Formats: sequence, structure tokens, C-alpha cells
Amino acid sequence: MDHAKEPSPTRAWWSRDTVAVVTGANRGIGHSVAARLAEHGLTVVLTARDGERGEAAAAPLRDRGLAVVFRRLDVSDPASVAAFAAWLRDTVGGLDILVNNAAVSFNEIDTNSVEHAETVLNTNFYGTKLLTEALLPLFRRSPATSRILNISSQLGLLNKVRNPSLRRLLLDEETLTEGKIEAMVSQFLAQVKDGTWAENGWPKVWTDYAVSKLAVNAYTRVLARRLQSGGERVSVNCFCPGFTRTDMTKGWGKRTAEEVADFGARLALLPPGELPTGTFFKWRTPQLYSKL
Ligand code: NDP
Repeated sequence: MDHAKEPSPTRAWWSRDTVAVVTGANRGIGHSVAARLAEHGLTVVLTARDGERGEAAAAPLRDRGLAVVFRRLDVSDPASVAAFAAWLRDTVGGLDILVNNAAVSFNEIDTNSVEHAETVLNTNFYGTKLLTEALLPLFRRSPATSRILNISSQLGLLNKVRNPSLRRLLLDEETLTEGKIEAMVSQFLAQVKDGTWAENGWPKVWTDYAVSKLAVNAYTRVLARRLQSGGERVSVNCFCPGFTRTDMTKGWGKRTAEEVADFGARLALLPPGELPTGTFFKWRTPQLYSKL
């Protein structure tokens, strides 16, 4: 199902005053999404953890006349997140779209080491959460509805979890909380430390990365509910681009970062009346979490 139609100037709710922040945007999917949003005419804050790499990625877009500003942001560093939020508030004045894209994996396609599990969880889950919470007060909550798009992965879907009590915890929409999600992550990291993680029913492929995306997916659902019940005009959804040819996959994959960005930008720009919240887009198909 092609849920999101091509954004066109006639359907555009955005303008050059609309601000999109993209993390990890110096290369790969993040870079392509940042470029695509700028091509649609938005102002894009292209962020990267490295100043030189970020500026080198932003400059060619600016040379094309696109409204692209570079700012350094390491999502795994609380000081960097706080400094970025303060800069965004004081210099730009706020934002309308946040694309949480930055992530790491240290495995080859066919390996499953958890040597870097802590960095993977700190970046992919805690980094996403930290930045989201820091920027939530800065969303402009315009009539068009502010939106957060978390670039996630189907490796972190519930159907990959083999531990029944973990599945029950994640499936119980009514009782799931951010605290329980963080407790799950701590439990995984403790099992990595004591060497018992392999026998505890976690996802089998890229386990540390999959747990980080499991946590992102669950956090997205909990946050969507929290924002909705508080009457906030901020939607939050997940998007799995599928197997994509980037550095993360050492160039393997079925589609390019540009193809992913075409559709990712469409999702980020869905007209207000068509924008869901708490939805997981498995490539182009919106899924109900309870069916995953
Ligand atoms: P890449 O490895 O090509 O790019 C990752 C980006 O994240 C880089 O810009 C990297 O910066 C940045 N990054 C890493 N750590 C941090 C940090 N602490 N702070 C800020 N930026 C950071 O990966 P992809 O483009 O493939 O992945 C993009 C997103 O898509 C990720 O969320 C990934 O999980 C997801 N995804 C990718 C799939 C695929 O097949 N490629 C499939 C499913 C999901 P630097 O250059 O400094 O390292």
C-alpha cells in the first residue's frame, strides 16, 4: 500500500520557515533525507557528530541554493544534546520536524558480537530518547502538527523476541512505560556483562542493535500515547527503510539511500489530516504494533 502520496507544491503545508532537524545526516540515509527535505523547500538543520564531516556534507547542498544549516550534535553525549537544544531555541526559535536517524552497528552482515552493546544502546535508544525529550518543548505545534520520525528497524519488531515474558511486557499497551523499557535495556546490558544474553530469548540477528530498535519502537508507542493523552499536536512514528545500501551494511542491500529518502521525506511531510501517530511503517506499509 502506497500510503504516502508524493508531496507536491499544491498539497504543501510547509514553507521555507518550516524547520526539520535530521540527526546523523553527514552520510547514508540521514544525509539523503536531509537533502530531500531541503529540496522540498524546507529549512533543514543537518546535524552530525563530527564538525568537519558535517560541514562537508552541508556545503554542497547550500551551494545548490538549498536552505541547509549545519550544527554539531552527538546524540550519545548529554552535553552535546543540551548545547544543541539551547542553540536551536535561541538561534532558530524551534522546529517542526525531527528525524531521529543517527545510529550505529558494529557487526558485519553475518556476525553477532555484543562487544559494543553499550555504545549501540547509548546511541540508538538513549540518544534518540534524550534528544527527543530535549526538543519536545521546542516543537512549534503549528496547525500542521509537529512530527517526529524515528528511523527504526524491523530487526526490533516483537516477532523477533523469543522470550515469552519479554513479549508479554512489550505487548501490554496499557501497562508499558518508559521505565519498563529502560529496565529491559538494563537487563540486556547486565546479561551482556555476565555472559548470559545468548540464552535469554533476545532477537537472534544483530542482537544489541535489535534490542536498541526494540526499545525505540516501544518508546515510540509509549510517547505517542503520552503526547496524545496530553493533547499535544506532535505525532511520532517509526519508519523501517528495509535493507539499504549504506556503510552500515557495507554497501549491501536492496535499495539506495536516495530511494529510502524519497519515501522517508514523504512520510515526514504527510498532510496533517493523513498523519498517524504511534505507527510503524515497514517500508511503505503502516503496521499495527499488536500484529508484529
Ligand atoms: P550509516 O552507518 O551509513 O550512517 C549512520 C549515521 O549516524 C552517520 O552519519 C553517523 O555519523 C551517525 N552517527 C552515529 N553515531 C552518532 C552519534 N552518536 N551522534 C550523531 N550521529 C551519529 O547508517 P544508515 O544510513 O544505514 O542508517 C541510518 C538509519 O537507518 C539508522 O537509524 C539505521 O539503524 C537505520 N536502518 C538502516 C538500514 C540499512 O539497511 N542501512 C535498515 C534499517 C534501518 P559518523 O559518520 O560520524 O559515524
